[in-house]
Amino acid sequence: MPEAARCVVLEAFDQPVALDERPVAAPEPGAAVVAVDFGGVCGTDVHLQAGRLPISLPVVLGHEGVGRVAALGEGLEHDALGAPLRIGDRVGWASSIACGRCFYCRDAQQPTLCERRRVYGITRRLDSPPHLTGAWADTIYLEDGTTIVRLGEAQPSEAVIALGCAGPTVVHGLLHRMPPRPGEAIVIQGAGPVGLAAAMYAQLAGARPAIVIGAPAQRLELASRLGVGDERLDIDALDIAARAARVRELTGGRGADLVVECTGVPAAVAEGIDLVRPGGRVLVLGQYTDHGPTPINPHLITRKHLSVDGSWAFSAAHYVEYVRTVPLLRERFALEELITAFPLTRAQDALDAARTGNVAKAVVVP
Ligand SMILES: [Zn+2]
Ligand SMILES: [Zn+2]
Repeated sequence: MPEAARCVVLEAFDQPVALDERPVAAPEPGAAVVAVDFGGVCGTDVHLQAGRLPISLPVVLGHEGVGRVAALGEGLEHDALGAPLRIGDRVGWASSIACGRCFYCRDAQQPTLCERRRVYGITRRLDSPPHLTGAWADTIYLEDGTTIVRLGEAQPSEAVIALGCAGPTVVHGLLHRMPPRPGEAIVIQGAGPVGLAAAMYAQLAGARPAIVIGAPAQRLELASRLGVGDERLDIDALDIAARAARVRELTGGRGADLVVECTGVPAAVAEGIDLVRPGGRVLVLGQYTDHGPTPINPHLITRKHLSVDGSWAFSAAHYVEYVRTVPLLRERFALEELITAFPLTRAQDALDAARTGNVAKAVVVP
């Protein structure tokens, strides 16, 4: 086990991230120290840096990661699925630990709403032990209670990190709350990782056509190359009326059976309500940060007899399901091609790339 590890720290909002170094603590019972191979860069990290989420700083960033076990605390002998866990094993882990005791954990059984949910790379302060609690670091300390999953041959680290957050987010929102049915016409708004993951899972479920609406052009080109979506509409090339006309053309004039919003842009929700057919379903999945209100016409929800649903984050169980389905996704889509790697020392460049959408999925590599 290394004695010290470098880590990328968000010290202040709207400021570049800084590289720091901390001693690596030996794992307590039930905990593990993992040498990070890839730390994912998520849209949430961009929002954290901009101060759009109320967190306490300083924080080691990185709520998505994969790596190799460097040390195991007493009693930690198996992963979340019961497979034996040994030094050197490649693993992924769920970003959050729900308390298991609050109303949402125990009574409502909606652990993503847990009142005391602890999230690596977001809600842990660098200055309180065990310090190294983000994946943008040489090592991460995984506390007792973390859901750790050993990765097999069909789950390469590059593939698992490609949809590190987006995959389990879609497993929760789409597969569990609004599962697409075979032959349904689905519109996915957004070509970021969540949008691409939604399109992939919808295609696996047999939805057709899967229509991805998004930008920039290079993301849509990558989606096209990987076979993500049956049709891709570029919002920089088609205005809102042209997009609506094209969706109707592709759906027998009625509109989509299911619209999945994965943009984070409030106005997209009104467009989704327009694009869905009467009696259809709308899943609002992309509004993770508060960008304020937007005009919608609620009459359309009644008149069109719509089901509108939201979905917040993902639980450890959704993460396990994501990792289990990575081999299925990979049979059809080259997940590894989504990632663009940046060294740990260039974490700020990785954040900038995620902000501009110049890359499909930025990852930092210690
Ligand atoms: Zn995330
Ligand atoms: Zn709880």
